[in-house]
Amino acid sequence: MTLEARKIRLLMQLRRAGITDTAVLAAIERVPRERFVPPSFHDQAYENLALPIGLGQTISQPEVVALMTQALEATKQHTVLEVGTGSGYQAAVLSRVCRRVYTIERHAELLKQAEARFAELRLHNLTSRRGDGSRGWPESQSFDRIIVTCAAELTPEPLLEQLREGGCLILPVGGQGRTQELLRLRKTSAGIEREELGVVRFVPLVADGSERRSAG
Ligand code: SAH
Repeated sequence: MTLEARKIRLLMQLRRAGITDTAVLAAIERVPRERFVPPSFHDQAYENLALPIGLGQTISQPEVVALMTQALEATKQHTVLEVGTGSGYQAAVLSRVCRRVYTIERHAELLKQAEARFAELRLHNLTSRRGDGSRGWPESQSFDRIIVTCAAELTPEPLLEQLREGGCLILPVGGQGRTQELLRLRKTSAGIEREELGVVRFVPLVADGSERRSAG
């Protein structure tokens, strides 16, 4: 089966899984996922699977990318922050549905590869940098939407601070080896509204200083 035929099959699977937002489906159709996975996984690029991208990290399952993007309710008017660039795939999908994307990754090597893909695909509405995304974007601005693609035990406070009123934050919360819940937090004048969107499994969010340093 050609990659194109596999992509069509994947899009049908996504529709059956409840992805109805046509902007999200069009973005998945336009972004070549095979460019975001290692060459040995090219033929699996349109399977509904998470795949390894090196350094113990993974590119999320297409269905999870689609569900999170849909849940974000992002439009061409919105500026979005993503924490956990990884392969860059989720950021590339977001760049097709919103006005501007900021994405932050802690691993320099993954970021370098993701940035090469953004340049190759001419995704000019995307800004990326290395850093600890649990602190938000360093020149803390206000974002319409925030998406976190690694799991934290608790919602990082700086992310809620950098979210504008009326905006929402999608993130998996929970530890490794335990159940993680995908949450949508909406910032309203009355406070934070919390919705549970289902059970997920993500690699951990690693904040600066949270890893034990070895003496050797
Ligand atoms: N959105 C990615 C999924 C990557 S997996 C994609 O589409 O491919 C999650 C990523 O989060 C990993 O690359 C990991 O290195 C990164 N990460 C973990 N903790 C982080 C932190 N505190 N700040 C920024 N990135 C982090």
